[in-house]
Amino acid sequence: MSNTDTPIHQVLIVGAGFSGLGTALRLQQNGVDDVVILERAADIGGTWRDNTYPGAACDIPSNLYSFSFAQNPRWTRSYAGSDEIRDYIHWLAEEYDLRRLVRFNRSVTGLSYDDASGVWTATTEEGDTVRARSAVMAQGPLSNPSFPNIPGLERFQGKTIHSADWDHDYDFEGKAVGVIGTGASGVQIVPELAKQAKKLRVFQRTPCWILPRLDFRKPDWQKAVFRKLPAAQSAVRNGLFLAHESIATGIIWDTPVNGALETLAKAHLRHQVKDKWLRRQLTPDFKLGCKRVLMSSDFYPALQKDNTELITWPIASISENGVRTGEGIEHQFDCLVFATGFSVPNSGTPFPVYGLNGRELGQEWRRGAQAYKSINVSGYPNLFMIFGPNSGPGHNSALVYIESQIEYIVKGVTTLRSLGIKALDVKDDVQATHNRRLQKRLAKTNWNSGCKSWYLTEDGYNATMYPGFASQYARQMKHLELRDYRLLSGSGAPQ
Ligand SMILES: Cc1cc2nc3c(=O)[nH]c(=O)nc-3n(C[C@H](O)[C@H](O)[C@H](O)COP(=O)(O)OP(=O)(O)OC[C@H]3O[C@@H](n4cnc5c(N)ncnc54)[C@H](O)[C@@H]3O)c2cc1C
Repeated sequence: MSNTDTPIHQVLIVGAGFSGLGTALRLQQNGVDDVVILERAADIGGTWRDNTYPGAACDIPSNLYSFSFAQNPRWTRSYAGSDEIRDYIHWLAEEYDLRRLVRFNRSVTGLSYDDASGVWTATTEEGDTVRARSAVMAQGPLSNPSFPNIPGLERFQGKTIHSADWDHDYDFEGKAVGVIGTGASGVQIVPELAKQAKKLRVFQRTPCWILPRLDFRKPDWQKAVFRKLPAAQSAVRNGLFLAHESIATGIIWDTPVNGALETLAKAHLRHQVKDKWLRRQLTPDFKLGCKRVLMSSDFYPALQKDNTELITWPIASISENGVRTGEGIEHQFDCLVFATGFSVPNSGTPFPVYGLNGRELGQEWRRGAQAYKSINVSGYPNLFMIFGPNSGPGHNSALVYIESQIEYIVKGVTTLRSLGIKALDVKDDVQATHNRRLQKRLAKTNWNSGCKSWYLTEDGYNATMYPGFASQYARQMKHLELRDYRLLSGSGAPQ
């Protein structure tokens, strides 16, 4: 079929994780049925399809790490494991009949907008083209695993595993294992591997602030109450939301609450680690909140097991047999586990995106990304982004932010239909003013207080985080103000 023969859908969505599926669900509930989701993998689930490493779990309570419009009374733990979260996503897809919208094994390689027709075209690695009036980029903020730039990485002859691509057939029993990275995934993996490996060495570049994680099995009576009385679950969810909002005052800004959280984290470390030298190695030298705050109650105890050792010498290189650290020692391993996170697109785009007059977003964003309310970019009409620039949550559930963005997209798409116009294009000056204010607010946050983190570009520009409460973010997304947009009409106007 030639490009012009392919049907024009109402909405095309890239990615079938929480964001893509949630958008399709809410669009359908609002009468927008003609939706196509392009997913590069063979199944739905995104983060929770890929991150199945031992110990993988959410670090926001499950009641809040789920959609408010599709709550799950069945959570078995306060912080659900990755398999339960995956089950929840699969339940969403079955319950709302979403799988039929997904084209699996389709990796999007580009998006381009045709000015005359007002149509977006997605191309895929597999050779398809899909056209639609609106496009939603829901390809995930953390979906491309990254490996560190260590000399000799390719020389290692043993087994290598990335946390986001676990090999469940590999038997760690009796093996010497090195874990590189002590961030969010590392602190979950280490306690599990410490139970299995013969020898475990954990390579830490920078210690993170760690708060205790109060994980417990949910009693059966609570599940029964939530099933019968959804309002009770909503009330608990609201309580958890407010609790996380109050913590924002200590994570985002340098307030007395920040000091109190640091005191709590230090007390947690003192309580779990008696050895002074180890405590010193595990104490961060930057303000709490500047990098992602972690939640764990079993990482510190795992590090003190007889078979486990923390190594803080910088890694100099990787050899055929293991890891050579700065003081010249070679640590030999059967397996190296990379808990080294993801490539975060805070500059450029994950694939080329062409807007009005052939302009290219990756070029415009090469020094750092910026958008209007994180979701639209001037010159790219009817393009919506989930987890676009400055929508990152530092203290509350990603799902709260995703929900606000989904509702904004629903407003955008239904507005096009109700006004009978071709496209909505955010005004350039509105976007510029929005970003000036945002960067001014970011300058006062802990993220911009001097530490090096994946929130910032090499130049120190913060294109990742939202500098405020989740409720403020939700409020800004509640209304789509038509005065902020140019309304494009023409022959391609939707019916
Ligand atoms: C290990 C881990 C734990 C986390 N825990 C928490 C937590 O506790 N609390 C919290 O708030 N957040 C957490 N997060 C953040 C998490 O990413 C979000 O909460 C959420 O899952 C994002 O959903 P998403 O649909 O936007 O992205 P994803 O789940 O990443 O889904 C994106 C989808 O797009 C697909 N895709 C990507 N590129 C293309 C392409 N070019 N073409 C077609 N398809 C493509 C991917 O295959 C994937 O299926 C965690 C992240 C990780 C990695």
